[in-house]
Amino acid sequence: MGQRWTKKALQDLALEVRGEIAAGPHTRLDLERLIGEYDIPVYAMSDLADSCSPEALDYFTSRRPEAWSAALVPVGTARFIVENSTHTLQRRRSNVAHEMSHLLLEHQFEGILFADGGCRDLGPEMALKEKQAAALSGELLIPVAAAIGAALSSRTDEQVALQFDVSLQFAAWRMNASGARKIAQRTLQKRAAGIRH
Ligand SMILES: [Zn+2]
Repeated sequence: MGQRWTKKALQDLALEVRGEIAAGPHTRLDLERLIGEYDIPVYAMSDLADSCSPEALDYFTSRRPEAWSAALVPVGTARFIVENSTHTLQRRRSNVAHEMSHLLLEHQFEGILFADGGCRDLGPEMALKEKQAAALSGELLIPVAAAIGAALSSRTDEQVALQFDVSLQFAAWRMNASGARKIAQRTLQKRAAGIRH
């Protein structure tokens, strides 16, 4: 089985990685800088025409354009990311962050790793890795401390999406899955109770 990561370990890793590119927990993640720091080339599918084998190109283009978001491709010991550039910029940010997360977690895999897993049965080990990559990409783009801060300031999902340059869907997922809305609600209730006493 792959390595186990606690929630806390993933949170710490995300902050550490943000720190490497001098990003605090409350700012928009500069993904360009992150992939530069790790020297991971990111290609759009259209860039691959010159450098990719016809088979590989066929592999990507034969899928429906909306059916895949990004993939991590091994070349010997190196890796590069291919992303679906037909998606919105915000969605592309989370797609690339997801693939970067597999890399940061040092996930071992054979062949090409797709962000969405498609309809394949992933098996328990890959399913765990997918969960870890999803969690880490969430922490990278919106660290839990930032999510709680935003919830305490009663920021809407739309405002959070703008602040961190992610899709509304991603912001909404993050604000709930991180527990930020619940934690903020409790804190605000306690504060209100404190005032009444
Ligand atoms: Zn994945």
